[in-house]
Amino acid sequence: MKILVINCGSSSIKYRLFEMPQQGLLAKGLLEKIGEGKSFLKYSAGKEEYKLEQQVSNHNEGLELILSILTDKKIGVINNISEISAVGHRVVHGGEKYSGSVPIDDAVIKVIEDFADLAPLHNPPNLAGINAAINVLPGVPQVACFDTAFHQTMPRVAYMYALPYELYEKYRIRRYGFHGTSHRYVARRFAEILKKDKYTVNVITCHLGNGTSITAVKEGISVDTSMGFTPLEGTVMGTRSGDVDPSIGFYLIRKGYTADQIDNLLNKKSGLLGLSGVGNDMRTILQKAKEGNDRAQLAVDIFCYRIKKYIGAYSAVLGKVDGIIFTGGIGENAVEIRSKSCSGMQNLGIVIDEKKNATAIGRESKISTDNSPVYVWVIPTDEEIRIAVDTYKVSGLDK
Ligand code: ADP
Repeated sequence: MKILVINCGSSSIKYRLFEMPQQGLLAKGLLEKIGEGKSFLKYSAGKEEYKLEQQVSNHNEGLELILSILTDKKIGVINNISEISAVGHRVVHGGEKYSGSVPIDDAVIKVIEDFADLAPLHNPPNLAGINAAINVLPGVPQVACFDTAFHQTMPRVAYMYALPYELYEKYRIRRYGFHGTSHRYVARRFAEILKKDKYTVNVITCHLGNGTSITAVKEGISVDTSMGFTPLEGTVMGTRSGDVDPSIGFYLIRKGYTADQIDNLLNKKSGLLGLSGVGNDMRTILQKAKEGNDRAQLAVDIFCYRIKKYIGAYSAVLGKVDGIIFTGGIGENAVEIRSKSCSGMQNLGIVIDEKKNATAIGRESKISTDNSPVYVWVIPTDEEIRIAVDTYKVSGLDK
């Protein structure tokens, strides 16, 4: 049984085709620059990798191209699109409505539309992908997997802001949290590694990619997370500031900035990029810091300092911590960042084994010392597999 998982950005479609229930990856690819003249498709099935250049003007055409490659006589992996039993979609914002993945119907589409003003960069392209899949694969079950869903278990004390209560009632202003599929995947994987029931494990999951967020998972469920009403809150990110005093916004307005300029400044010009001035890619920043670039070093220091603060805060929230997980491009690969973020935390029971840490690059491995009371693990995330499993179950294919 084949399940297609797709993740649509405004000009891209990332996809994977899985054989279920074995969870085997049959093919994967990325179509970029949709609607920008020439589009580029990278596709791989097994060891072979292919590249293709073609004009694709919208997500519908993009998906048609992807399916034509998947069914291609030479490089495809299926004979006919009718072999695809269901499609799983990554959707960023599901608001308060969904605490799990759901079959897509008109009501679900309406909710995704309604939350588009909270996730303007994500929900509209996610919806474009859903519409394209309904069009191109009519009658095939479609499932939405929300980034916000895993965090819907947060208690009120964690998700409410200390603002006038009417703002919550009127506009649903509250903490939602994101990267839920990734936090859930690594938390579940950690329980599996420990051979423990997933609802018995307390863990702090650090998803450090271009976006970064940290979640406190108590007995298997999310009880707090660093991203908030939007993905801007929390730890330092590639181009997002993370936590700042909201007064900075008003101060800048009085200095002549517009709301859009401040939005752009906090989301696109801040974080690692704004601090370092050398870019938003952690590899470049680490390299520059090594070469003595003071602002690059500052960016690294603040990035790690903020992670440490969240780990400390969530240790207090959880009481007992079984493990800390690092995942995402930075979490899985950046030895220095993991080391610095966990330094000097012996009093919280967190002790890194630097030798193990140094070799744990892009692979699942324990990086804490054998007598560290809290385990520290690197666990590569796999949001797509999580979406495939959810899609398989939610569309009733496991029955
Ligand atoms: P996204 O959030 O877009 O999915 P990723 O999870 O791929 O992003 O993470 C991208 C980040 O990971 C970038 O800052 C990149 O520099 C960083 N990264 C990837 N490999 C390494 C590495 N070997 N060392 C340090 N940082 C890395």
